[in-house]
Amino acid sequence: MNGSSAYSVKSGEVTLTNCDREPIHVPGCVLPHGVLLALRRSDLTVVQASVNAGNVLGVGADDLLGKSFDALLDREQSRDLAHFVRTERLEQNPLFAMTAMARNVGSAFDVTAHTQGEIAVLEWEPSTRGIAPSSPDYYALVKHTVARLQNSASLREYCQAVTEEVRNLAGLDRVMVYRFQPDGSGWIFAESKREDLNPYLDLHYPAADIPLPARQLFLKLWHRLVPDVRAEPADLMPLVNPVTSGPLDMTYCCLRGASVMYTEYLQNMGVAAAFVMPLIREGRLWGLIATHHYTPKYIPHHVRVACEFVAQVVSLQLAAAEDREDQTYRLHMRSVHEALVTRAAAVGTPLHDLVAGKPALIDLIDAGGVALLQNGNVWSAGKTPNPSQIEDLATWIRSRALSPDLGYHTHTLPSEYEPSREFKDSACGLLAIPISRSQRDLLMWFRPEQIEMVNWAGYPYEKPVEIGPHGPRLTPRKSFELWQESVEGTAPPWKEVEIDAARRFRVAVLDVVIGHAEELARVNRELAATVEELDAFAYVASHDLKEPLRGIHNYAAFMIEDYEGKLDPAGEAKLRAMMRLSERMESLIESLLHYSRTGRGEMVTRDRDLNALLADVRDSLQARFQETDAELRVPRPLPVIRCDSIMVGEVFANLISNALKYNEKATKWVEVGYNEPEHVDDGTESSRGLVFYVRDNGIGIPPKHHESIFRIFKRLHNREMYGGGTGAGLTIVKKVVERHGGRIWVESTEGEGTTFFFTLGG
Ligand code: ADP
Repeated sequence: MNGSSAYSVKSGEVTLTNCDREPIHVPGCVLPHGVLLALRRSDLTVVQASVNAGNVLGVGADDLLGKSFDALLDREQSRDLAHFVRTERLEQNPLFAMTAMARNVGSAFDVTAHTQGEIAVLEWEPSTRGIAPSSPDYYALVKHTVARLQNSASLREYCQAVTEEVRNLAGLDRVMVYRFQPDGSGWIFAESKREDLNPYLDLHYPAADIPLPARQLFLKLWHRLVPDVRAEPADLMPLVNPVTSGPLDMTYCCLRGASVMYTEYLQNMGVAAAFVMPLIREGRLWGLIATHHYTPKYIPHHVRVACEFVAQVVSLQLAAAEDREDQTYRLHMRSVHEALVTRAAAVGTPLHDLVAGKPALIDLIDAGGVALLQNGNVWSAGKTPNPSQIEDLATWIRSRALSPDLGYHTHTLPSEYEPSREFKDSACGLLAIPISRSQRDLLMWFRPEQIEMVNWAGYPYEKPVEIGPHGPRLTPRKSFELWQESVEGTAPPWKEVEIDAARRFRVAVLDVVIGHAEELARVNRELAATVEELDAFAYVASHDLKEPLRGIHNYAAFMIEDYEGKLDPAGEAKLRAMMRLSERMESLIESLLHYSRTGRGEMVTRDRDLNALLADVRDSLQARFQETDAELRVPRPLPVIRCDSIMVGEVFANLISNALKYNEKATKWVEVGYNEPEHVDDGTESSRGLVFYVRDNGIGIPPKHHESIFRIFKRLHNREMYGGGTGAGLTIVKKVVERHGGRIWVESTEGEGTTFFFTLGG
């Protein structure tokens, strides 16, 4: 099989339906200003030659085929060139080999060489090296250029400098930095041109103007020159390479014949020569340095290399230059970030506080509105969709299974989420980040629609099908007339620095939320310490108050005695009231003192038989029992437990005396017992799991007071009723239980009776 049937590669035979599939790397022809020789690598015999070899080098392709290239050079240069091809690392890597003197024409050629598997390729182009002694020092020019680039403040200024420097180096009519947009279209970002030419700055070019194969080649080549777009290409002879049995792959050839689409496109623009270099940022084609000349223009190899060097430096510096551009904005965002995090870190600040105030979430990123969704609530500020629209949007975002680190962002929300057309005036741009691990909670920034005016160099959407100079086929566009488009449903795109800022904020918020939990634990510890201090204060205060109070009481008593009969009855009544009040106050202070002692004193724990303890309590309440004729029931013997027996004695005494007090039944009883948990591991004295109770058949306690009765000085009845106390008894009971590591609660039915349950540890 012969390769030519698979490829219609000869120039003029290309019938395209889709430029994105044009095999431009195998054109089968070369730019006619130079000569290409394909050699068999093993013996360096010529297997393919461009048909212009006779004209350019003085030896016809026919005469070269099957032989070495010796006929072209003197012996020494011929040997050097062969040595170069054999020894250098040339695989897919064209290198300048030498300036060779073609002996049959007596002129100099720059020869570059590279290899491609079994094939070695030599490309011969007219040299100006050494011919023009006044030619500038390109090394010095490049050095100057690089220094100038380093001083540019903004990316635009940087690119502007690039265009001027390249124009100086190569002497071209127009040099542009053509920047690719996310949709593949191009934007003339910087331009330097001959003064009389129309400016192209800020014009946009459709993505189709630079088809995919051309873009792919630009990732492999550092420059591409077409010195004369009208020059007829020179075919390769033979078309099929005898070594590979296929067309010659010319990906790395500087003489690769240009696509007809490309040369026609340039001609339609009035361009006679074009020189293009790729700008590559982090492996991606970021843009091009595109140059036009309006008369044919040959740029010799060493000048191209100088320009190429500039393009490489620019490529390396692009990331830094782009970053520098956002420097001020980044600093602003950082300071807002810090202020927000400081606000959020204050204990007790809920995140939604940051939606308003100064600074607020909306100040972090340049946006029209902001919303926070947390625990099913929506808070918003600025121009945003309404809360139910925000919730629906959040559901849609979550359904896209966000990556927690990246979140979700778009500047064309209406084209991705149909319902957002309703609120495009507030949210065409959306930047959302999850702020909880479950992704339920989200933070969103919104940008309103901004109708953008784009200046296209010609109508970008229809490909004209016309009869071109090479027959009926898709032809490049002819019109480059300004065409203004207003783009709807979009907002200014989110910048990389903004997305970064949102991500950093997310991390900080998660930290703060976790920090808050830790802070709460710390506050609790502090609170416990404060309660202890309060106990100490109550002790000191009540202790010191007792003395003067006693004095007031005594003086009142003295006055009543000393002025007996001298006072009128009203005066005497007042003095007696004073005495009663001071007594009352004394008993309150006594209770407080008692309470604070309960909280502060050392606990003395030892094993104690509760039956004996209960017998002592009963003895101390003997008078009460007799008075009320109440029965003490103990259904089964009580256990031995480890406790502070004085304190626990007080618990039983308090509960039993209350049980006797708050009872109006004719037959009163009080029962003391305990329940075991379902599984008791052993029969020891451990009180772990035991629930003690004191039950009575008294008046009962309404449910709403089941908690409050444990508060100090809380009484449910008038002091005069039920032989009332100060209301400190249950508070002391609770304190004792808690100091034993237990808890206390009550169950009661009004009119039937009350049961106090408590545990003592465990
Ligand atoms: P006091 O010194 O007034 O008895 P306590 O703190 O011991 O104070 O009790 C607080 C209040 O709880 C009492 O005033 C009383 O109204 C109610 N109370 C306590 N024990 C019982 C009980 N066994 N039955 C009914 N009410 C009770």
